[in-house]
Amino acid sequence: MTYWNLSFDATAMFFLLLIFIWYFSEKRIPLRSHRVFLYFLAVVFLATGLEITATIMARNLSDFGYNAFYFVLTMQTLAINLVPMTLSYYLLLLAHINISKHKVLRAVYIIGLFADFIIIALNPFLHWAFTFENDKYHIAYAGIILYFVDIVMLCICIVTMIRARVNFLFLRIMPLTFNIICSIFACISQIIFYYPILNCTIAAACLTLYHYQQNSGTVTDAVTGLFNRKFMGEYIQNKYLSSKAFGIIVIALDDFKFVNKTYGVESGDHLLYQVGQFLERQKAGSTVFRLGSDQFCVVLNKNTENIAMISEQIKERFYHPWYDENEVPIMMSASVCCINCPNDAANYRELIEVIDYSMSITKKTRKGRITFASNIDLDKIKRDKAIEHAVRLAIAKDELMVYYQPIFSVTKGVYNSAEALVRLNDPALGWISPEEFIPISEKNGLIVEMGEIILDKVCHFIHEFKLSETSVEYIEVNISPVQMIQPNFAERAISILEKHHVCPEQINMEITETATVNSSSAVNRNIQRLIDYGITFSLDDYGSGNANISYINKMPFKIIKIDKYLIWDSFKNSTAGITLEYTIGMLNALKLHIVAEGVETEEMKKQLSDFGCHYMQGWYYSKAVPGNEFVALLED
Ligand code: C2E
Ligand code: CA
Ligand code: CA
Repeated sequence: MTYWNLSFDATAMFFLLLIFIWYFSEKRIPLRSHRVFLYFLAVVFLATGLEITATIMARNLSDFGYNAFYFVLTMQTLAINLVPMTLSYYLLLLAHINISKHKVLRAVYIIGLFADFIIIALNPFLHWAFTFENDKYHIAYAGIILYFVDIVMLCICIVTMIRARVNFLFLRIMPLTFNIICSIFACISQIIFYYPILNCTIAAACLTLYHYQQNSGTVTDAVTGLFNRKFMGEYIQNKYLSSKAFGIIVIALDDFKFVNKTYGVESGDHLLYQVGQFLERQKAGSTVFRLGSDQFCVVLNKNTENIAMISEQIKERFYHPWYDENEVPIMMSASVCCINCPNDAANYRELIEVIDYSMSITKKTRKGRITFASNIDLDKIKRDKAIEHAVRLAIAKDELMVYYQPIFSVTKGVYNSAEALVRLNDPALGWISPEEFIPISEKNGLIVEMGEIILDKVCHFIHEFKLSETSVEYIEVNISPVQMIQPNFAERAISILEKHHVCPEQINMEITETATVNSSSAVNRNIQRLIDYGITFSLDDYGSGNANISYINKMPFKIIKIDKYLIWDSFKNSTAGITLEYTIGMLNALKLHIVAEGVETEEMKKQLSDFGCHYMQGWYYSKAVPGNEFVALLED
């Protein structure tokens, strides 16, 4: 080498200073990888600084003296060789790879570091790494080994990153890999052509790394300035890796929609910001996340035994008003859940389930109070998992069954229809109620496939037993809201009917108001398409929610099914009885067919028909029975 070009190093310095400024002016990401990134920056900074110093000294060798110059050159060689080491260590951390548990990786590091130090330390005596004679810098054979170790290090990095790609998004891994490849080329060009672009290329890689990995803007929430949910996943996975105990407090604002509606979204945002700030001011050693629109999460890293005290302080704050940007006092309430990890949840996936489950319990029964996950029966989560497994198994083995519960027509004196009810008998869990497995299947989306199987079985049954030749005019099939929002639901249903040559008049679909209340365009399109085709609809569980008259008028229902609990209540107290009588009168006036569910006694049957109810369904007539038993019942 004759002359180093300082402009590359100056550019590298510029990049590095820029990153330092960003790094220290933005919110610190509380991860070890973030800290190691800083060390990496420092090493690159040192290597570049020493290279600049060495260049200046080389140009004015007589002023600085040969020994001082030689020392700087040695340190610079060492620093530049530490760059790939720190970089690869950093990347392995990003990929959640623990070097201490990887024998091969650990050996590579130790040998690499050892080789670097020995070669460089012995260079003044052996001159095997580099020489500097007559103003000329030469790389000797051991120097090539140094660079070779660097290249091996970077290659190992790429391979480990690609192998651990599950932890990376494709978009994230590509720019990083590209940067590493550039660094390898820069390294080669520095060895062969003495072209000093390595520091500059690495500084550019730092810029990319910062942008994709360490930029706090990508992990924070714009409204509250807190870390976002996505980052919480990364953070907590790291916490589990460290296998130290930590505590989690989840805070959910109650009825925050109401605040947004009443005071406006801007006030809502302002309040969320304040809650976030308040939580951040709680005990040091905690990290605060915004979990969802109105949920926050405090992770306690230290003093997890204080979890009860801190959650009490948080709850206490909600006894006092919060203020919106116009200083209007607003009272809010919050439900709080405390979770001790790993006792209550052994890994991140379990934790998410525990959070969801304990929060749903809290919102249902303990709104505005503190709940400890350890006091909740978390076995429910395990049972839900087992049921999910049972449903999958039943679908795979075609073991789902459909039973039929007859519906009696008072005017005609015959069973004029039946409700199809799904049944599941698991070898391990026994009979499982649809009240249990339907909501689980709705949550995980299995209901879509299950719903198609049920409709298929119903259509097969209608065709096989020639129901059109009996008194049964149609079969009522329950359709879940999750099915209704599928864009192609109507078409799929129609194709199932056609496959079995079933007329649309032979099918009636039961939906609850939840299916239509947030009527998305997909739901409306499905309903319209099916009605055009000739299928009728029932409103199920009328009286259990808050469907009002205008709602019934708006939706094209033919049948209203009165919820069994409403019926039972009316036989327990007279006010409910009066309500039921007038409800039936009103539905009659609207010319709707009325089905009373849960008819269990002679007395109920009599009373309901006196009220003017046309159709009865309940154990008084029959429980849901298998298809062939249902047909036998009809023949009786
Ligand atoms: P649902 O639609 O309200 O169904 C009526 C429920 O009341 C059925 O319970 C039925 O067996 C029960 N029942 C009927 N008459 C009486 C009675 O006289 N006394 C008592 N105590 N109960 C009576 P089941 O079969 O356990 O179903 C529970 C819920 O599961 C259903 O409520 C429905 O929401 C859902 N479900 C059942 N089958 C299906 C299905 O195929 N698809 C979908 N999406 N949901 C279903
Ligand atoms: Ca039903
Ligand atoms: Ca019902």
